[in-house]
Amino acid sequence: MARISKFFLKDLFIYAGYDAELTQKYDDGIDIILTQGREKIAIQAKRMDPYKNYDLVNKEVVNTLISGARRRGIEKTCIITTTFFSENAQKIAKQEKMELIDGKKLYYLIAKIRPELLAEAYFERLGYIKCPECRSGILKLKKNNKVQNSFPFIGCTNFPKCKHSMKIADYNLKYGKQNLDKA
Ligand SMILES: [Zn+2]
Repeated sequence: MARISKFFLKDLFIYAGYDAELTQKYDDGIDIILTQGREKIAIQAKRMDPYKNYDLVNKEVVNTLISGARRRGIEKTCIITTTFFSENAQKIAKQEKMELIDGKKLYYLIAKIRPELLAEAYFERLGYIKCPECRSGILKLKKNNKVQNSFPFIGCTNFPKCKHSMKIADYNLKYGKQNLDKA
């Protein structure tokens, strides 16, 4: 799955049937403007480091979005993050009827709108790498038994239909050594 960014989210919303537009640069704390019919929603996408649990979205982010949306005359606001919101941020958002989508809700949304992306990401997490050429086979460690003392290499499970192959060193560089025992 592509890294979760404002570009990823924009595509996700287009998939869900919205008209989604990125704003120019950092514009009033608004990253994406969604339009569906006559309704507009101002969205701030806040990617946080999920490995630092103190990295919560704070109330400043909420306030910036509120004033930015007001300046543009947009009533509905929403912040999407990969982690969670601070208590103060949640309090203000509730008063302002702002929608907050935390990391858990975000993955739920992705699962609902693009389940194949999540399935693929999970699969890759397990260490199985899809063949980049035929996109249906899995990359596997192989050895040519017909040639004596041949070096092991990485090939596709769809061989001989798919002839994709790569050196182990290139595989490690691209997908990480830890995936090699699954190959
Ligand atoms: Zn293949």
